Amino acid sequence: MNGASSELFNRDWDHLKLIGGRLCLDFVNTVDRETNGYSHEWLTEYSDLVVWGRQTQTLTVQQAKHLLQKAQQQRKRANAIFDLAIELRETLYRIFSAISARQSPQAQDIAQFNSMLIQTHTHLQLVFTEKQFVWSWNDSHHLEYILWQIIRSASELLTNSNLNRVRECAGTDCGWVFLDMSRNRSRRWCDMEDCGNRAKARRHYERSKE
Ligand SMILES: [Zn+2]
Repeated sequence: MNGASSELFNRDWDHLKLIGGRLCLDFVNTVDRETNGYSHEWLTEYSDLVVWGRQTQTLTVQQAKHLLQKAQQQRKRANAIFDLAIELRETLYRIFSAISARQSPQAQDIAQFNSMLIQTHTHLQLVFTEKQFVWSWNDSHHLEYILWQIIRSASELLTNSNLNRVRECAGTDCGWVFLDMSRNRSRRWCDMEDCGNRAKARRHYERSKE
């Protein structure tokens, strides 16, 4: 186990696989989606967002420590941002799931995402450094800082030609999304070791019953 998470938390975050190929897709993959609800929920409170931020290297150790401290001091605010994060995750899931199924995302999901995007953009600024301008955030210690990065990652993917490579795992009770960068665009599983093998075992079992 590496980084701040090992010092601060007992949960074994190394078991969370980062296979989405983009930050926003990995964020969608912080829960397994069963037909009748969720299983394996990784995010249960604000501090989980911070650990995830370390796990994905979205946050430095310093930023993570600062955010955890701030969340302690502003519990109500941190809880509200956590709720917002889950709302964002589910909105992104519905949008990417629709894209994967070659359907149009729901208008209300697009509107929801846009309202978060507008808020996020108020924290973006241009900084002149080494003879050029680069995008930068105006406050990397803001409690919503992780969300901004996820939203930016999503807005970049949604407007990128790779969007048509977004897939939802074909496994049952999974619902993970990923970028299929395989040459013949044939990747079906989030992870061959997990869903791929489960599907193979199921086919094998069904054949053996025939
Ligand atoms: Zn899967």
